[in-house]
Amino acid sequence: MNVDVVALGYAVLAGAANILGAAAVTARTRWSESGLDALLAFSAGFMVSVGLLDLIPHAIEEGGSRAAFVVLLGYLLVHLTQHTLAPHFHFGEEKHAVTQSVGWSALAGLLLHTFIDGVAIASGFAVSSALGILVFFAILLHKIPEGVAISSLFLAAGAGRTRAVTAATALAAATVLGVMFTGLVEPLARHGLALAGGVTLYVGASNLVPELQRGGKHARALSFFAGCALYFMARLVSH
Ligand SMILES: [Zn+2]
Ligand SMILES: [Zn+2]
Repeated sequence: MNVDVVALGYAVLAGAANILGAAAVTARTRWSESGLDALLAFSAGFMVSVGLLDLIPHAIEEGGSRAAFVVLLGYLLVHLTQHTLAPHFHFGEEKHAVTQSVGWSALAGLLLHTFIDGVAIASGFAVSSALGILVFFAILLHKIPEGVAISSLFLAAGAGRTRAVTAATALAAATVLGVMFTGLVEPLARHGLALAGGVTLYVGASNLVPELQRGGKHARALSFFAGCALYFMARLVSH
């Protein structure tokens, strides 16, 4: 067992997008709100597609029907840590006041999810570098909204800019740790694809898609479908 250095490099890049999202929020960059919406919708399409077309089928191919249980476990783990134990979390910029404990519990929940983001990258590269790169893009795209979400949540809870950026940096570090642990912990390497399949499906279909359902703008729906279509095409080219 050893750590995949290439996967590690991609995880560092993906983590940097967490920090970029936070930096934009704390610098009070005037986001074009529709730009962030489009990115969110696009990454939702990418994540749902990578989960359903590649992560879950590969996991079941390798682990049989048992892998399906691990997929469900991954899905439930995100719901438990992000939405059952944490009282309030959603993607997109936080615009209403929240208590400090809301910020901390959302961070705790997101740390598990971003750790699995790293497990997903490492598990993808363990199958093939083509799949690794596809998974990397799916992770990279949603990392900016992720950084926006956690840092704006901290700001809304009254934290200063430094703490808000530090929270996003912790998410980035968890992603890098996810790659390292997948290389060092055998059960994680064995079940990594299935776990990542469940988590990716949750983040895409149950975190990001509900954000798109609010307001019902056609532009968002279009970028969602575009995300799916582009994933499908990237996959055709790389296989
Ligand atoms: Zn909120
Ligand atoms: Zn993530």
